[in-house]
Amino acid sequence: MSARAGIVVTGTEVLTGRVADRNGPWLADRLLELGVELAHITICGDRPTDIESQLRFLAAEGVDLIITSGGLGPTADDLTVETVARFCGRDIVLDEVLEARIAEIIKPMMARYSGPGAPDFATVRAANRKQAMVPAGATILDPVGTAPGVVVPGTPTVMVLPGPPRELQPMWHKAVATPAVQQAIAGRTHYAQQMIRMFGLPESGLADTLRHAQETIPGFHRLEITTCLRRGELEIVTRYEPDAAEAYRQLLELLRERHAGAIFSEDGSQIDDLVASALAGRQIATAESCTAGLLAGRLADPPGASGYLAGGVVSYSNEAKVELLGVDAALIAEHGAVSEPVAEAMAAGALRRFGADTAVAITGIAGPGGGTPDKPVGTVCFCIALGDGRKITRTTRLPGERADVRERSTTVAMHLLYRALSNG
Ligand code: ATP
Ligand code: MG
Repeated sequence: MSARAGIVVTGTEVLTGRVADRNGPWLADRLLELGVELAHITICGDRPTDIESQLRFLAAEGVDLIITSGGLGPTADDLTVETVARFCGRDIVLDEVLEARIAEIIKPMMARYSGPGAPDFATVRAANRKQAMVPAGATILDPVGTAPGVVVPGTPTVMVLPGPPRELQPMWHKAVATPAVQQAIAGRTHYAQQMIRMFGLPESGLADTLRHAQETIPGFHRLEITTCLRRGELEIVTRYEPDAAEAYRQLLELLRERHAGAIFSEDGSQIDDLVASALAGRQIATAESCTAGLLAGRLADPPGASGYLAGGVVSYSNEAKVELLGVDAALIAEHGAVSEPVAEAMAAGALRRFGADTAVAITGIAGPGGGTPDKPVGTVCFCIALGDGRKITRTTRLPGERADVRERSTTVAMHLLYRALSNG
């Protein structure tokens, strides 16, 4: 037994690339969580004949569920519901309760548009009526915006969702709960899913460990492992049926044995959240050169950041390093602005300047210019300094272009910071 699905993303703006598709990938994740196998994501414009071809194609592939996104609005080019009804061999009927419900929703919107240029009542009413026309026998999904969605039961069952992601996402959860969808995906496999995150381990190092796991762990073939390198972090997602839990336990043990220093999360939690928790009760200050505030911005992302973030200095020029952070000009002359001694002096300056107990300094060469044979583009020095005198100083060589180097620098800083805070 299994359940398979297909996704039809509609909208000329998505087809032409003016709007990047956010619904296909989001729905793909939800299907994966449910244990429904995703066969295809197709993208087409607003033309009914194109939408219908995609529906025919997916039905011929034998999927149990088709999900469409987009084309539910009140305008004439929004034709998905009509097209799906025709495809499913159902009439379109007016749902009066739904019509009244939509009228309630748009009343306050209408009040905002008054004066010249405002749509007249008859036009709005016609548009409103169009959105209340649904396939006979379909399950109606209450509007999140103004557009209702529908689920049309059958082989395959078709779930019709609106295009705007903030409308589609809440509606998806209601749609999945309907009896028609539950029946369509009854054959799904129940999976457990785990995520481990690592930092500072190349993908090849992990590949070697996985080869070893394959040879030594009896149920290894029952684990579906996906690895992904992102922003310098290695994500390992493992999916397995519940009776393969022992194989996963053994894999986790092997990873801990070989890569204890690289694993920073065994439950999928992100470095930013871990750092935010570790900073509870502390005051942090930043001194940033090449990242010019990116790290402070990242530290300020979580709600409640005011509890630990004291402030930061963007000390891009040498003068700023000297005047704002008290870095000795002679130190810069002797070692260069991108050097460990200068990073340490910047961190010490940030601690003093803000009366903080935790400081992070970053100084590096983001490129494209400014590299030397000694210190090529991508050379970045970091210092984490704590109020009790402990500190971590590192120099790394980061790959990529200017934007990559600057972004990657903040990730390295977050990991060094987390290490400094968790070893105390
Ligand atoms: P509306 O009532 O807003 O017209 P709709 O269901 O008819 O809703 P569309 O007309 O297809 O939806 O899309 C409306 C807008 O929603 C698009 O212009 C786009 O900004 C956004 N949108 C639609 N589909 C997607 C998608 N796949 N990914 C990201 N954004 C999307
Ligand atoms: Mg529309």
